[in-house]
Amino acid sequence: MVRYSVITDKNPREIVLLRGFGCAWKKCTFCDYHLDCSPDAAANLALNRTALAQVTGQYGRLEVINSGSFCELDADTMAEVERVCQAQGIHDLHFECHWMHRREIPALRVRFAGLGVRVHIKIGVETFDRAYREGVLHKGIGVSDPAEIAADFDECCLLFGLSGQTADSMRRDIQTGLAHFDRVCVNIMVENTTPVKPDPAVIQIFCREIAPAYLDDPRVDILMENTDFGVGGAEQ
Ligand code: SF4
Repeated sequence: MVRYSVITDKNPREIVLLRGFGCAWKKCTFCDYHLDCSPDAAANLALNRTALAQVTGQYGRLEVINSGSFCELDADTMAEVERVCQAQGIHDLHFECHWMHRREIPALRVRFAGLGVRVHIKIGVETFDRAYREGVLHKGIGVSDPAEIAADFDECCLLFGLSGQTADSMRRDIQTGLAHFDRVCVNIMVENTTPVKPDPAVIQIFCREIAPAYLDDPRVDILMENTDFGVGGAEQ
């Protein structure tokens, strides 16, 4: 699997897909990438070192994803992330985190601030429609107020292309995301091993009526495929 890439257009940064112990939540109905995990810390560290060794620091920004939350990475991998940040001049570091681990974020910010690194935390919200998010997607965010969700986080992911979503609902989700977060990442649902299927009609509506307004917005990433950041696909 490709575990290192460079994003050159919006918010240019390097990105690594690391492997951790596994998502502690695992209940999101649309998700199967939490399967990229291992209980073997030494094997994870070896794999993660290989990905992190490719970081050059060319933009001073690094995104670390691990099919779960940063706190599911082993301690030695986190130490390696610290070392690479210092060695390669990383000043902005992005991690992902589920709502359930939000209380672990302040300590992470302090830890990296001590190295002169600003941490940005991304949460998968998928939609601000709580009934859909919790009733259909089982996301595990037990509050409705977007400001409350955003309190500990800097960036959010939205998931579009699902049955029941409309142009209005998708537009509202992006606008709400931009009002409360620094950046928004729109993921379009793709076929995977879960029973949740992409809805081609909804994806068409997104491409025709929503995406054009945000294609040049530096605060909005749009991933038509979940490998669009360059990681997660098979090695060629
Ligand atoms: S929290 Fe993230 S990794 Fe875990 S099941 Fe949900 S989408 Fe998948």
